[in-house]
Amino acid sequence: MSPGSSFGYSNPRWTDCSLTPLAQFSSLPVHAIIPLSLLEALRNLDTPVEDGLEELAGEIVSKRLGLSATVAAQINRYQDAAKRDGRVATDEAIAVFRLASRRPDAQLVFADAGRRAARYAARSSALPARALAQVTPSGMGKAIGARVATNAARRVLNASLRVGADGAVAQVPSPLSIHAVPDGGACSFYGAAFGELLRMMTGFEGLMVHDRCRGRGEDACHWRAMPVGGY
Ligand SMILES: [Zn+2]
Repeated sequence: MSPGSSFGYSNPRWTDCSLTPLAQFSSLPVHAIIPLSLLEALRNLDTPVEDGLEELAGEIVSKRLGLSATVAAQINRYQDAAKRDGRVATDEAIAVFRLASRRPDAQLVFADAGRRAARYAARSSALPARALAQVTPSGMGKAIGARVATNAARRVLNASLRVGADGAVAQVPSPLSIHAVPDGGACSFYGAAFGELLRMMTGFEGLMVHDRCRGRGEDACHWRAMPVGGY
């Protein structure tokens, strides 16, 4: 038995997906940054903090999926792919979302993974624009930063992120989170990613509110930026 097979990870089952598959969606490959970020978040959360209980930790550690050889091998594979701007199959990315969603700490995994994905996406963006946005503390720098964030969201998250004078909004027409968890429980991945992209590239401080969700029967998954104290 391979290290991860008991978790259903090595052999994901697709036939149990209860959402009507969108023909278009299956032809859109997924950026390797997405499964990479999810598995790294999982590993991060499963890594024991140094608490002086090493012996006990050793026993627990061996049972933690995030520290398994399977997850380590997949992280390496996704890192290699991400460096080349590589993509993975949609089904594979959905399997990783499902894997995370089954954990009691799923919301922590999605929040951490979303922020990681944003940082990877921003780092892999065109360097001159990114550097300029970070060193220019003016309106012009912010506009460039917004453009970098928009491009990164489209390229890595298949999302449309708009930054206007009245705030930022984001939409994902066919979110992996919904395909993996039809009730919308995994959508927080995208919210965390948009929030972090905006924070890094435009200095945004606040939350992305998930104001429309396909998991609630609405037409799309949509987020609106809510600045701190911006009521
Ligand atoms: Zn949603």
